[in-house]
Amino acid sequence: MTDLQDAFSFPDEFDIAPVRLTVDLGALVENWQEMARRSSPARTAAVVKADAYGLGIEDCGTALYEAGARDFFVAVMQEGVTLRSFAPDARIYVLSGIWPGQEPSFYEHGLVPVLASEEQLSFWMSVTAEHGDHPCALQVDTGFNRLGLPLEDAIAFADDVSRPASFSPVLVLSHLHSGDTSSSPLNRQQLEAFRKLAQAYDGIELSLAASAGTLLGPEFHFDLTRPGIAVYGGEALNGVPNPMKPVALAEARIIQIREAKKGETVSYGGTYQLTRDSRLAVVSAGYADGYLRSLSGTGVPLRQTVAEGAHGFVAGRKVPVVGRITMDLTIFDVTDIPSSEIRAGDYVELFGRNIPLDDAARAGGTIGYELLTSLGLRYERRYLYPGD
Ligand SMILES: *Cc1c(COP(=O)(O)O)cnc(C)c1O
Repeated sequence: MTDLQDAFSFPDEFDIAPVRLTVDLGALVENWQEMARRSSPARTAAVVKADAYGLGIEDCGTALYEAGARDFFVAVMQEGVTLRSFAPDARIYVLSGIWPGQEPSFYEHGLVPVLASEEQLSFWMSVTAEHGDHPCALQVDTGFNRLGLPLEDAIAFADDVSRPASFSPVLVLSHLHSGDTSSSPLNRQQLEAFRKLAQAYDGIELSLAASAGTLLGPEFHFDLTRPGIAVYGGEALNGVPNPMKPVALAEARIIQIREAKKGETVSYGGTYQLTRDSRLAVVSAGYADGYLRSLSGTGVPLRQTVAEGAHGFVAGRKVPVVGRITMDLTIFDVTDIPSSEIRAGDYVELFGRNIPLDDAARAGGTIGYELLTSLGLRYERRYLYPGD
């Protein structure tokens, strides 16, 4: 024991963290099982890109693997290499495909490149000619204009006699751009395009649906669904109640409670003027923690925005953010909470239990995906395991 340890008793880090995150892996697994139930008889993959939507690829990936997921999607090769160490026999698809120089890692770790362009395709042919057969997948664009071979090229390629006999993708996939809007006719257009592709690639597994597509119904499921956000508890469809369980709870500690007078202003720029004598809670989270400055409520027209900005939750009540969110600190108006019920050291919920993830996101004109993947490095994390 050091002198320091003699002199103090050390509390649990989680109980004193400035910002902390609870990840409920039991809820994560239940959400994945719910998506699997809705996808059946199609298989259900797990999408764990961007560090499992910010919630930790090791813990989330392991929990999903133990729940039975054997098909995983990551965005980049390094994520696949990380995942391989705790998903030994899973099929791991790398959505951004492969670059020259990466082929040794794809072979060594058994990663499946999702080939998304003509260049990647011809590069992959030369790789397999030299190093031997290895599974790949083909991404085809049906209207997103992001990644994927053009539909006509992909259909022509299916019947191309010059295609090496050994070249046979294990999966052909495409991605919906407006799946979150179930009334959009564009979903059906993409579905029809994908069906043409399915005919050309008869006998090869097919995948079209992410979370939203999975919820749109069985026509969209094909052989494999790829839900991400729904498994992490976020909203996949606009305008309908979110059926998923919340997975992440973000909280920040109140550093100071201060009294301020009517007419005074709050935070940078003095943009917010108090309309009454107020009590303000200064909380230890800011945009460096992914609590985005846009949550201040000025909004960005990316999706719906809420003019008054975000709310936190403390002492049984919703409390509004006032003034601009800063790098490390956010100020909440807690005037309506009796002073005996709140003090420095208490935690304010940013989102996750009483404030739905997507409500917080909407307050900043953004989406739950962005809040989760922006959480940053300062959060003290606690994982709750299934059955805890
Ligand atoms: C991210 C992604 C998914 C998962 O999307 P969610 O909306 O999070 O369910 C599925 N497929 C592709 C190609 C993706 O990029």
